[in-house]
Amino acid sequence: MAWEYAPAPESRNIARLRTSYGMFIDGAFTGGTGGSFKTVNPATEEVLAEVAEAGQADVDRAVAAARKAYDKVWAPMPAAERGKYLFRIARMVQERSRELAVLESLDNGKPIREARDVDVPLVAAHFFYYAGWADKLGYAGFGPDPRPLGVAGQVIPWNFPLLMAAWKLAPALAAGNTCVLKPAETTPLTALVLAEICQQAGLPPGVVNVLPGAGETGRAVVTHPGVDKVAFTGSTDVGKQIARSLAGTRTKCTLELGGKAANIVFDDAPLDQAVEGIVNGIFFNQGHVCCAGSRLLVQESIADELLDKLKGRLATLRLGDPLDKNTDIGAINSAEQLAKIRELSDIGDAEGATRWSPPCELPEHGYWFPPTLFTGVSQAHRIAREEIFGPVLSVLTFRTPDEAVEKANNTPYGLSAGVWTDKGSRILWMAQRLRAGVVWANTFNKFDPASPFGGFKESGFGREGGRQGLEAYLCAGDGRSGT
Ligand code: NAD
Ligand code: MG
Repeated sequence: MAWEYAPAPESRNIARLRTSYGMFIDGAFTGGTGGSFKTVNPATEEVLAEVAEAGQADVDRAVAAARKAYDKVWAPMPAAERGKYLFRIARMVQERSRELAVLESLDNGKPIREARDVDVPLVAAHFFYYAGWADKLGYAGFGPDPRPLGVAGQVIPWNFPLLMAAWKLAPALAAGNTCVLKPAETTPLTALVLAEICQQAGLPPGVVNVLPGAGETGRAVVTHPGVDKVAFTGSTDVGKQIARSLAGTRTKCTLELGGKAANIVFDDAPLDQAVEGIVNGIFFNQGHVCCAGSRLLVQESIADELLDKLKGRLATLRLGDPLDKNTDIGAINSAEQLAKIRELSDIGDAEGATRWSPPCELPEHGYWFPPTLFTGVSQAHRIAREEIFGPVLSVLTFRTPDEAVEKANNTPYGLSAGVWTDKGSRILWMAQRLRAGVVWANTFNKFDPASPFGGFKESGFGREGGRQGLEAYLCAGDGRSGT
């Protein structure tokens, strides 16, 4: 490159980082009975804060507070009033958007550009969208007078900490449920600031409770007998455990799990645009995206040309300080996730695929992995079958549309897919055959609160977003499903 970028760091002061954070139960921040844990900045390994960890007694207290708030305040409240609270939360997220973006970037390692331009605006959009539904539930298509379910126990992952909290809370609250939310152990901070926003918005105590902690806390939330509805986003392994533990109970459950999406490029696609879509599909958020386009299926006749362009583009990606506004690739969220990415990539080498990364200097501290692609990948390779959840692309080829469909569907997952072609008819033909919850055409990783999102097969069941996202929090009958 002929020139370099000057550093353009965002100030971290606006994150208003505190040395310790409590949990949020019944409208107040408190310590807990489960001790505490540290959350680190994965870009530097610096400890950011000490966070209270919720134990069984805290979960009991939060579920009781949520039950009381449901019975006494939230469910009886006129729906238009509930909507006002959600509009208020949405506006407060917008007002504090810089603070939230910087805090998210610090705790998660994602580039500030993404937290600022994608995560936080989508959080506000989600609250606005579901605020509008609160007094129109009878028109959502679930009967003339749908009722809330009761107390929702919600567990979320670390890749989009605040956005996943919004995806869980906004539809549940709009439908009249109360919530006990457990953020992921490596990224608890923005959910706690969202709790503070709920408090400042005057949300009645107990309507939203936020319990930081690890898997044990999550297990206590999802198996609690006082919970009427479980919503989980995370790995397929944990999703299966939850499904087993809830089988035979009356607790309703939706699961948003892993993915191994195919991004399919036909020979008539606009190639430069497709290259941008491939990059966005797998290198956005370091590939920590459940619907990431982690398998590139490219038509054989254009494979060499496309790969040349793609490699040229990857060489321009900037990896480094997530708070620098020019950074494209931030840090891997944790040492454990880095180990998992390394292990699967090494297996890719061992199974005979060819690894390529652009020249890319990695920072000395923190958890980093360069943008990587594997060619010579066969469908049997583990890097073509297993979710790597990192910045690693597996490239396969196909000759005919039928072969593309067959290869794309040859996975236990089915969360998303991408199709790149000049022909509208081919887009529709493909979309009818791809077994995936979302099919993007000539774009990738586009999100809108009005659009439902969710899986086929081992990617889970239930939809989040859109009118469909309300269904998980409503029933046609007389309310409480857990009693
Ligand atoms: P994980 O399943 O280990 O953890 C997710 C959450 O579940 C965390 O909050 C964790 O503390 C909690 N948890 C762990 N064990 C639990 C248990 N036994 N009971 C209840 N809760 C428990 O997943 P992860 O590795 O942290 O996250 C990455 C995975 O999440 C990837 O596989 C990815 O595809 C998936 N994911 C899916 C979506 C989606 O919308 N489908 C979104 C983001 C991430
Ligand atoms: Mg962290």
